[in-house]
Amino acid sequence: MEQRIERIKKQLHSQSYKLTPQREATVRVLLEHEEDHLSAEDVYMLVKEKSPEIGLATVYRTLELLSELKVVDKINFGDGVSRYDLRKEGAAHFHHHLVCMECGSVDEIQEDLLGDVEKIVEKEWNFYIKDHRLTFHGVCYRCRDDNTE
Ligand SMILES: [Zn+2]
Ligand SMILES: [Zn+2]
Ligand SMILES: [Zn+2]
Repeated sequence: MEQRIERIKKQLHSQSYKLTPQREATVRVLLEHEEDHLSAEDVYMLVKEKSPEIGLATVYRTLELLSELKVVDKINFGDGVSRYDLRKEGAAHFHHHLVCMECGSVDEIQEDLLGDVEKIVEKEWNFYIKDHRLTFHGVCYRCRDDNTE
């Protein structure tokens, strides 16, 4: 945790931003809830538990800054809510999501898996891919197990 904060701090510094205490509080919440896909309001509620002096607007601005700096990725699962997802260290592209249409759970696939597709797109469309969002909608293994009895 401390090492990752240190690296995020360096990442901000390299872009001439400081990891202020407010920003650090937001980053800590994101790290503590890395598996979750928190909305700005979710992040705010968690930040407030430890740092009640920090306002929603500050949390919003911090999240926007972190997404500009590619520390977090912003994602929308079709419910109109922007969620914030820490980018895995060293990942060139955003990870994929499996959204269950029955229980609403969100699982992640960390491997890119798109190597062949990316090659085709770059070749056929002469398009240089910098990133992508891939969300699968379906039924997760937990819900499938329930149904197969
Ligand atoms: Zn994710
Ligand atoms: Zn990729
Ligand atoms: Zn499910």
